[in-house]
Amino acid sequence: MRVLVFGRDGKVGAVLMTSLAAAGHDVLGVEVGEQIDLAGVDVAVDFTTPTAVLGNATTSLAGGVPCVIGTTGLTDDDLAQLDRQAREMATQCFVAPNFALGAVLMMRFAAEAARSFPRAEIIELHADTKLDAPSGTAKATAAGMGGAVPIHSVRLPGLVAHQEVILGGLGEILTIRHDTTSREAFVPGVLLALDRVRGLPHGLAFGLDSLL
Ligand code: NAP
Repeated sequence: MRVLVFGRDGKVGAVLMTSLAAAGHDVLGVEVGEQIDLAGVDVAVDFTTPTAVLGNATTSLAGGVPCVIGTTGLTDDDLAQLDRQAREMATQCFVAPNFALGAVLMMRFAAEAARSFPRAEIIELHADTKLDAPSGTAKATAAGMGGAVPIHSVRLPGLVAHQEVILGGLGEILTIRHDTTSREAFVPGVLLALDRVRGLPHGLAFGLDSLL
């Protein structure tokens, strides 16, 4: 498949350029200010910034190219716009706040545990270069737990992507923790999304969970 990676030189983008090619894809990369050439592109992948992602995705969808988006920071209005545009163009837009399998399981376990504990809080920890807070994963985790879960964001050099969901009950604490130790963790999820995106119904699909 010919795959266009928006954010070619970013921390995740650089890993994807190598890993997607190693998996047999024909990979093209785009960086800020470069010409976007959609000729022959089967799927576009975006790991850029909260301000760049909507423009990249709308350009791809307008060209009839399905998108796989990992960039976080999209608002509900942005997602509604992408859904409309993908439907109009009879194509697909897949958005996942976290492509790591362990993070998806953490969200599932947190949703289940929230049914048995009266209170919970989330601590999400990321590299200081991450532009949005709270993280998309933390917001999705909180939504899956029923919504009203306080989120604390830590941004420090040395971190990659980490999250703790701490649930408190009478005389006990349950902690569910996920650590991403390298950005290779996102590769299997992105490969799965590339494999499946064109078979999804037209419009927006959200969350790696929906593909597993
Ligand atoms: P990063 O290292 O800052 O990389 C972002 C890259 O995108 C930079 O090279 C940046 O270039 C480039 N870029 C900015 N605007 C662009 C545009 N209009 N067109 C093409 N490229 C553009 O960030 P990262 O750590 O790779 O993360 C990228 C995004 O993915 C963030 O939103 C992060 O939260 C998210 N993320 C999601 C997951 C997931 O599983 N869903 C996992 C990790 C990260 P300049 O440096 O020149 O601006």
